[in-house]
Amino acid sequence: MSPLPTAHVPLPDLAFSEDGAPYSREFGDIYFSRAGGAAETEHVFLRGNDLPMRWQGRPHFTISELGFGTGLNFLVTYREFLRRCEPSQHLHFISVERYPLTPEMLAQAHAAWLPAEDAPLLKSLLDHYPLRLPGWHQLKLPRCTLTLGFGDADTLLTTLDAQVDAWFLDGFSPAKNPGMWEESVLAQVARLSAADASFATFTAAGAVNRALQAHGFDVQKTAGFGHKRDMLIGKRANKTPTPPSTPSSIFVIGAGIAGATIAHALAERGAAVTVLERTCIASGASGNPAAVLYPQLTKFYTPATAWHFTGYDFMLRQIARWKALGLNFTHQQPGMLRLPRPDQSAEGFASLQLDASIMRYVTRTQAAEIAGMDVASDGWFLPHGSWISPPELCHALLQHTNITLREQTGVQSIARDGNQWRVTLDSGEMLAAEQLIVANAGDAPRLLADYPMPMGISAGQVSIIPAPVPPLHCIISHRGYVIPAGEQWLMGATYDRSDYSGAVTDANHAENLVHARAALPGLALNETSIIGRTSLRATTPDRLPYVGELAPGLHVSIGHGSRGMISAPLAAEILAAQLFHEPIPLARNLLAAIHPRRRTKAK
Ligand code: SAM
Repeated sequence: MSPLPTAHVPLPDLAFSEDGAPYSREFGDIYFSRAGGAAETEHVFLRGNDLPMRWQGRPHFTISELGFGTGLNFLVTYREFLRRCEPSQHLHFISVERYPLTPEMLAQAHAAWLPAEDAPLLKSLLDHYPLRLPGWHQLKLPRCTLTLGFGDADTLLTTLDAQVDAWFLDGFSPAKNPGMWEESVLAQVARLSAADASFATFTAAGAVNRALQAHGFDVQKTAGFGHKRDMLIGKRANKTPTPPSTPSSIFVIGAGIAGATIAHALAERGAAVTVLERTCIASGASGNPAAVLYPQLTKFYTPATAWHFTGYDFMLRQIARWKALGLNFTHQQPGMLRLPRPDQSAEGFASLQLDASIMRYVTRTQAAEIAGMDVASDGWFLPHGSWISPPELCHALLQHTNITLREQTGVQSIARDGNQWRVTLDSGEMLAAEQLIVANAGDAPRLLADYPMPMGISAGQVSIIPAPVPPLHCIISHRGYVIPAGEQWLMGATYDRSDYSGAVTDANHAENLVHARAALPGLALNETSIIGRTSLRATTPDRLPYVGELAPGLHVSIGHGSRGMISAPLAAEILAAQLFHEPIPLARNLLAAIHPRRRTKAK
């Protein structure tokens, strides 16, 4: 029986020689040549793949590496790409690493070796470095997307969806680390290769040479770097395929977080996007003044947990990037204290094996210190726990020159019409869409009646207590949540599957208050000026959203339930990557788990 999945990501057994060169004690091998790491990258991997020459005239170029290690190959390649290529060109760099270095280790590994000119690139990598979670992570850097997989190459590559133009085969030497050069790994290299893909590697091992030839590469021995006599390079002999076409005009239905993030992701890629919204921006569940970025905790790292943590990690980095790009929205990261619900024990989540940098166990005393007030029990602290203002974010995302927003524009129906989708508006106006993305939550099933997907609706009321409120220093998550949102508190949210009227009721306020008091004993609040907001969430039976292509040219991003803030932004990048034929930032098994055509039991 295979072990239950956890979020454990092993650390490298990293050591440093006297001159500061990093090496692995476990493998007994070095990360890069002491004869000059950057020069080795240029000789072996860049020139070995005929780079930068092959970048010329390519709007996109995809490199994939086996063994991210210290990221030196990446940094040197990125520097050369920025130097040699036009601003309109984009580098996709994919790399896998079973024993990722921590940010502190990365900084230490480069301290003595990295040329000073590359220091800003290292800083950029560290600023975007993902949380220590298994699976794929997408780092969106200027003119470059780094897709970093934490896990065993053998398994990770089977979950990858990409067309690789050049390979950097850089596992430790085959004699010391045969696992990285297995036939199964090289078979994945072949599967993921574009028709004219090339590879380069520091090794000249006969077995590697033969295996790559067997997989269709013309392999050559050439002069190695430093004291190494030979190395291998190779190319697939096929003709360069014509690049697939990318969409120029796209319609998105819905201007909540799902629609706003997908519209922005497409607009950033140069597409003209029209957003059709029945009422106004963020009028549904994305209209609450504050929302928590909160991944679901379970006993094991199930597909749903993996999806939500991957989305959480991705959203944290998107927030930083959007802010750096000048988007203006409220976001705070006070951390989140997760207290067990009545049917859970605080210790229960230890089996998830999340890294302590993501979530750590705290005693009740420690938790109270973090919160600044008494709390009911021991719990878990998530230092990246954040809240944002969804309406402000949706507004900021939709302000893009490539986006046309049409509010008060309800869609009555959609229908296939030749190669296009015909969109009939409530006004009777008809539009033709080459690509159509349905992102309007609860109203989607009506438009998609030909494609039944089990979905439910749950009403959620939040309660807002205006100032003065007690000084709470972090977000509290329990049976509900308490967000110290500036001067006020926002508490939520109820789950109601019977009343869809949108009414704000005292009974729901009372429920939110009971939950908050159970988490924060002795809580004294002035409830006289409590106000509320109720909205409807679109839910799915398995708590995973529906994301993907439903029919040619028809895509969905719906069913995000109460986790739209961490689920929709990743969904947006997945759809955009699919439409633009980029490496997909999610494992294929998880893509299948969120696909709208998966089998889900109706509830
Ligand atoms: N390219 C790296 C750089 O620029 O620093 C150096 C890579 S180092 C020679 C080899 C890397 O492969 C190590 O970081 C090691 O942890 C990783 N590795 C070894 N076996 C692996 C496996 N089975 N799957 C994924 N990564 C593995």
